[in-house]
Amino acid sequence: MTKEEISYRRYLQRSGYAPQPISTALIDMDGVLYNSMYNHSRAWKRLGDEQGWHYEDNEFFLYEGMTGAAIIRLMEKREHGRDDVSDEECKRLYALKAAYFTAQGEVEQMPGTARMLATLRKNEITRVLVTGSGQASLLDRLNRDYPGTFFAPLRVTAHDVTHGKPNPEPYLMGLHKASSEPSQSIVIENAPLGVEAGHRSGCFTIGITTGPMAESVLTEHGADIVYPTMDDFADALPNIIELRKSFKL
Ligand code: CA
Repeated sequence: MTKEEISYRRYLQRSGYAPQPISTALIDMDGVLYNSMYNHSRAWKRLGDEQGWHYEDNEFFLYEGMTGAAIIRLMEKREHGRDDVSDEECKRLYALKAAYFTAQGEVEQMPGTARMLATLRKNEITRVLVTGSGQASLLDRLNRDYPGTFFAPLRVTAHDVTHGKPNPEPYLMGLHKASSEPSQSIVIENAPLGVEAGHRSGCFTIGITTGPMAESVLTEHGADIVYPTMDDFADALPNIIELRKSFKL
């Protein structure tokens, strides 16, 4: 049995769902479509230095998927004991962080991602963007870099949700927008909290270790299967789609 078969069988056992072909792919942005996590981390560190935050070197990779406001509140609480960070202050600080991100120049598309999206389109699988980001510079680029891939009504961003990842709300909203069920959908994620959100939404959740996190971290957060790179996942995707079309328990 391949690792794809083993992981899908395990997913069916834990969820209780009957096997279903894939109709919808819920796709994270940072670290999946764009190699942007290192720039985000540097931007958070620059803001953190200005705010007097202490942080571990890879700490901001752990928070990937949370909204900017949630990260700011978490750090101000921990570092300065504050419970009184207003929405206005969050907006001001997040605008600084976004500017520090943009100042580093354009981020690269993740290698393998265009091939993954082409496979999804060829198989008429609906693509839904599900990101905790509100980074306008990246959201604006999507149409240029991946034309015809993410239709405007099929996007969930930081502006749409009350609760960011690891809450399942962003993925549940993505399912709702696509009129799809968890049993027919897959989540494609790179970050621990994003994987957790996908898992909690009930979808088969694919983790890609495109950042510094070990495979075990994504597995512990609920990934059903993990690939080391987007290229590896793009290689496996046609087989995953075929497997799901004809799977028998
Ligand atoms: Ca991500």
